[in-house]
Amino acid sequence: MLNEAAILAARGARKAINMEDVEEAATKVKLGPEKKRLQTKEERRMTAYHEAGHAVVSYNLPQMDPVHRVSIVSRGLAMGYTMIPPKKDRYTETQSHLLETIVALLGGRAAEQLIFNEFTGGAASDIDQATRIARRMVVDFGMSKLGPTYLGPQIETTEYGRNFIQPTEVSPEMQAKVDAEIKRIADESYQQALEILKKNKRKLDLVAEKLVEQETIDGDEFQKLMKPKISKK
Ligand code: ZN
Repeated sequence: MLNEAAILAARGARKAINMEDVEEAATKVKLGPEKKRLQTKEERRMTAYHEAGHAVVSYNLPQMDPVHRVSIVSRGLAMGYTMIPPKKDRYTETQSHLLETIVALLGGRAAEQLIFNEFTGGAASDIDQATRIARRMVVDFGMSKLGPTYLGPQIETTEYGRNFIQPTEVSPEMQAKVDAEIKRIADESYQQALEILKKNKRKLDLVAEKLVEQETIDGDEFQKLMKPKISKK
C-alpha cells in the first residue's frame, strides 16, 4: 500500500508521502484503481442514490461504524462505493452487528426501489455478501429460529490427519428450513432498510444530490449532512 502511495507522491512531484496519498493508495488496494466510465446522467443519478442508500441506512443503525467515504467514482467492477471501515478491530461478531451489516448492504437496492422503482445489476455483490452473512448466521452461528445446531457439512478428521467433508448430514426437510430462514433474514433486513430510507427520504435526496454534484463525500462532510437541521422558531 505504501508502495502505491509512494508512486502517487512521485507523480505529484512530492518528496514525501502525504495523508491523501495513503488514503488513495489504501482505496486503490482495496477496491481497484479509479476507472473513467462514460455514464449517462440517469446512470449517475442511480449510482448516487444506490450509494447514498448504503450510507443513510448505515448511519441510522446503532451498531454500524461511521461512514468513512461515499463515492460514485467507479473503481474496479464497482460503479461507486461506500466505505464503512471498522473503527476498531472486531474480535467477536455479534448477532446485532451482523444483522445491521445485512441491512446496510441491502440499503443500496432499497434506495433503487424507493426512488426509481427499478433495480440495477449493481446490487449483485451486495446481495451476494448479505446472503453469505445470513447463511453463516443460520448454519454456523446458530443465530436463527432454528437454534444452536450446526447445519453445515460435517468435517471428519481421520488418524492420518486428513479432513474430508461429508456433503451434508442435514435432512432435506431441515435444508428447506435453513433456506427459509436465510430468506426470512434477507427479507426482513430489506424491509428495515426500506423503512429507514422512507423515514429519511430528505437526507437520502440530499446525499444523492451532493454525490451527483461532487462525486465523493468524505466522512466528516457526510456526518454534517446527516445532522438534523436546527429549526428556527
Ligand atoms: Zn451497493
